Order: sequence, then structure tokens, then C-alpha cells
Amino acid sequence: MDNEIYLDGNATSAVLPAALRAAVYAMEARYGNPSSTHGTGLQARAMLDAARARAARLLGTGSGRIMFNSGATEGIQTAVLSALCAVRARRAAGKAAGSLLVYGATEHKAVPESLAHWNALLGTGLELVALPVGADGRHDLQALRRLAPEAAFVCTMAANNETGVISDLAGIAAALEGSPALWMVDCVQALGKLPLDLADTRIDYAPFSGHKLYAPKGIGMLYVRAGAPFTPLMKGGGQEAGERSGTENMAGIAALDAVLAALEEGGTFRSHAELHGFRDRLAQALRQALPGIAFNAPFDKTLPTTLNFSVPGLSSKELLDLFDAAALRVSAGSACSAAKAQPSYVLDAMGLPEWRSSSAVRLSFGPLIDEATVAKACARIARCGDALRLSGLLGDGAAARPDGLLQLTADGRHTWLVLDAASGTCAVIDPQPALADRIGTLLGAHGFRLAARLSTHDGGAWPVSGDTLHLGSRSLRRVALDTGGVCYLLALEGDTPRHALTGSADPAGLAGLVPPDILLCPATEAQAALCTTLRPCAAAADMHLDSTAVAALLRNSPGALLVDVRELHEHAAALPSTRAQAVNIPLSRLAGELPRWLAQAEPVPLVFFCRSGNRSARAASCLRSVGYAQAYHMHGGIALSDLR
Ligand code: PLP
Repeated sequence: MDNEIYLDGNATSAVLPAALRAAVYAMEARYGNPSSTHGTGLQARAMLDAARARAARLLGTGSGRIMFNSGATEGIQTAVLSALCAVRARRAAGKAAGSLLVYGATEHKAVPESLAHWNALLGTGLELVALPVGADGRHDLQALRRLAPEAAFVCTMAANNETGVISDLAGIAAALEGSPALWMVDCVQALGKLPLDLADTRIDYAPFSGHKLYAPKGIGMLYVRAGAPFTPLMKGGGQEAGERSGTENMAGIAALDAVLAALEEGGTFRSHAELHGFRDRLAQALRQALPGIAFNAPFDKTLPTTLNFSVPGLSSKELLDLFDAAALRVSAGSACSAAKAQPSYVLDAMGLPEWRSSSAVRLSFGPLIDEATVAKACARIARCGDALRLSGLLGDGAAARPDGLLQLTADGRHTWLVLDAASGTCAVIDPQPALADRIGTLLGAHGFRLAARLSTHDGGAWPVSGDTLHLGSRSLRRVALDTGGVCYLLALEGDTPRHALTGSADPAGLAGLVPPDILLCPATEAQAALCTTLRPCAAAADMHLDSTAVAALLRNSPGALLVDVRELHEHAAALPSTRAQAVNIPLSRLAGELPRWLAQAEPVPLVFFCRSGNRSARAASCLRSVGYAQAYHMHGGIALSDLR
């Protein structure tokens, strides 16, 4: 994408142009099998040997060896298998081998998962122990000293992928002095960012992945110290000196070699000092845009290419959606599902408060980044801050007061806000404790007075003597249900009610109590994601359109409306090209818009879109379910469309 600023370098990187050329050259002109003894094979062999020699020079492998493989996950398996087989052999020979598999609590999941897998598969029965880290993310060396005498295998990383925290490898080596343990250091995030002189250390195994530093996915390497035990993961044709069979990925090796050449020769990647300067500028832009921002790892102990942060009151999902709208690609510092972000085990291990570990965002870049990209990224970050302010999410300087119905959802339960902008009064129905801060900030930012706090379960605190509560030009009438619950009918003054805010899971129980065509605003996602009716229509498969079909529909139906259902702050942060073409009705405000659309004498096609196609699908199915036949959405979202 032209406008995209990719700041997710710890996940993967684009391929260096020189690496791309090298891969193409390998496939076109050096396509031989390096095991063949004819000329074409010998040419490929020479390329392979040269790449290995360069990697050995660059990583200071001494008499240790480098083998090429598919990436770090394979390298980790190989190291774990080798270490566990060695433990088994030592035991069989009646020698002490240790009883613990010690791994850093912040390791990439590939490490503990492999340890558990091979330990079970081989029946070695060792005990897995997570080595704690301190508040700065570094390993607890005292704990390691205590574990060292009983450790069979120790796995630590050179730098952490979520936080960029750089391990104290010299300190770990000192703590392991005298221990029989084998030692693996996951060097994935260190390649090209930290000096490595492997043979000068007691490290036995060091896995690498090419795609974290501008080589393609599917190529990696494993360093093995001279004399370290080794068991092949793959047997077959005897490639890689019999230690990793399978015809070599020559295009990948050529590309990785081009990256290593760029590292060796210098001049391609930014210096450490330049990277520090870039990090400081990005951090400053974030501080200005996001009040209260907390950086989750100390800058003096982290790679200058990684920033991990949390912002009070904003989930990582919200921040990711916001940054993505501005075409800034960052990632959640924690595993994140649509419903609820899982806390980051890395930040948990550092003892950070739950809110920070569950709302973290990681911004990371590679050493190829340039001045112009950093300047553009800082401007986009500022744009995101302005968009948040405009929407009232930060509680200061908010623009236009929202008016009508607003739906917020937490843990599968909906909270509905009835907002009357003109009078500045509002009512909240079924407020969720998890949303208390969000609601407080929103109402405060727009100067709303909370007139009633209601519940569809037991009625809450009804503030007036009659059954009707007036909120400026709106009214809410309460209706007691047979089930003991309460339903609230929302109407504009002098009009018939259009919305029923109800916790009743049985719409049939409402028949006769509410107008037949009323829109039901449910209390839980289990009842409905958005609005429904007493007799909902079935969702239709033809509502999913790819971007070509959307373009055709917009061409053929001039009256059709393109509706951005992303939240206000996302729409505001979006690049002007997207915003110009669409109206913005956030999904949280969709219920309030429905009566207007449903009242049209000649309904126009409505085409909803969002970031990924999830929210727009919900909007389209809601409209179909309330009887609006011409509702569609852009399948796959903006990510797969020409809207940028
Ligand atoms: N170790 C670390 C620190 C990583 O960041 C990653 C990738 O995210 C891996 C291991 C696994 O690498 P790959 O998926 O390339 O095998």
C-alpha cells in the first residue's frame, strides 16, 4: 500500500531489494542442486558455501557451525531435541544430567511449547521451570544461580520480541558457571541489532529467522557450538553435513546472504545512534498525542527499534484500529481478540499492572528505516491524537456533542446511552462496571448531565414519579414485563417510540406491550449484536461484496451510500482519500440511525465498510434483519480494497 507506514518490524519485514535480486538470481541463474556434482550444482554449492562463510564471520562462530533451515521455530526444535537426547544419553550412561528445563518467563512461545512437547514425546520427564524476570524485563540472575546446579537445559533470549528488552547474556553466563546445563539463546530479534560473537560465549545453540531482518520467510539458521550435542530433526538426503536433510532453500539462502552482506559491508542500515534518535522522536510524538502514555520497558535496556506502551482508558484493540485507520501498522503487545484482550504474559511476568499488560501496543521498526518515514510516522501519530481528542475519548477538547442512541459493549453485555445533545441530558441503561471510566470520560468531555441510571433487569433508579422520563426532546417510557424485567421505550417528543431497550431474551414476551415494528435494543450480544425486531428477517448471503462488486454497485446505483462504520476517532484519523468518499456512522451509533433509513420512501443501497469486514458484516446483517433489503458490506474491509 502506497500510504502505509509499516511499524511492525518485530513481526516481520519487507524484503531488502538486494535480497530480492539475489533470490531471483539464485532461481534464474544458480538454480542447481548444491548436492549435484556437475557444473550447475557446483555453482549452487559455491553460493551456499559463501553464504555460510559470511554468516560464520558475521556471528563469530569460530569452530562452531551454522546450518541453514526454515527459521527459528525449526532451530528451536532442533536445539531442544539435541539437548533432551543428550540428557537421555547422559542418564543412560549413569551420569548426572540435571532435572530442570529452565526457560525465561518472557521467551517466545516457541520455546516453552517445544520444551513441553519434546519432553513429553521423548519421555524425559524433566521439570519445566519459568525463570522469573524483574520489572525491567531482565532475567532474575539470583534465581538462575539457585536453579543452575540442577538445570539440564537453559533457554533465554538475546532480545525480547514484545518489549525489545536486551538480556544480560554475560550475567546469565556467569550465573551458569559450574552448571552442567546446555544453553540456548534465541537470537531472532538480535540479528543486525546487537553485536554477536558466539564462539566467545558458552552458548550451545542460537536460532535465527531471516524474515525478521529483510530476508524472506522460510529461511533461517542455527548456530551450534563445537562439541555441543546434536541430534538431527530431519534425516534424509544428508544435506548440511547430514545434520539437516532436505534440499536447501537456495533462493532464501541467497537472499539471507544479501542481507548479511549488507550488514558486513555497512552503509545500508542505520547506525545505533541514528536508531536511538528515531526512537526518541517517535516516543515524543506518542507522548504528545496520547496523554498518560506509559512505556512498558526502560529505554536504556531495550533495542532502540522497539517501543511498547499502554494508554489509560484505551484498549489495545482501540489503539490498533486507530493507528490502522491512519495506515500506521503496529501490533498489540498482547494477544487480542475482538471481545477481550488477553493480558501479555511478557508484561505480566514483569509485574506490570493488569491494565497495562492487557492494553499494550508494540511499535517496532527495522534498521532500514529512514528519516522521511520517521517524520511521516510522527505526523500520523499526531493525527491519531487529534482524532481521539475530537471524539471525546481522551476527555478533553471534544468536538460536537453526540446525539441519540449509543451502544457500548463489554464482555458480551451491552450498555445503552440515550444522549440528548440539545439539553445536555442523558440516561444510561445497564451500565457495565468495565465501562464506567469510558462513560465518565465521554459524558464529562461533552458536558452531559446524567439524569437516570437504569437497569433492564430490575429497573435501576427511576428518577421521576410517572412512567415517562423526559430528556430534552426525547422521552423514555418504562414498561414492566411479566418476567420481572423492565423495558424502556424511546421516542422523540410527539412521535411513536422507535426503540425498545430491553433485557428480555424472549421477544415474543414483548408482543402487545410494544409497537410491532419497534427496534429492539438488546442487553446482551447473545440476544443480538446490534438491533433486532419482534420478527427478524433471515440474514442473506448476497450482502457480502468484494471490492470489485462494491465498485460496480456504486457505479450502477448513483444514490448508493458508502457508510464507514468505524468509530469516530478511526474515521477522523483515516487518510483524506477514504473519508471523502463515505459518511461515518459508527457501529456504536447504528441503532440510532436505523429509523431514518427505514423511513425512506425509496430505500437506497447502503454499503458498509470497516477495517477488516467484521463490523461492516454486523451492520449489514442488522439492517437485513430489520427488513432493509439493500444492505451490503465490503467483505475483507479496507485492507483488501482500493479505499486507502
Ligand atoms: N523467537 C522470537 C524471539 C521471535 O520473535 C519469533 C518470531 O516472532 C520466533 C522465535 C519464531 O520465529 P519464526 O516464526 O520465524 O520461526
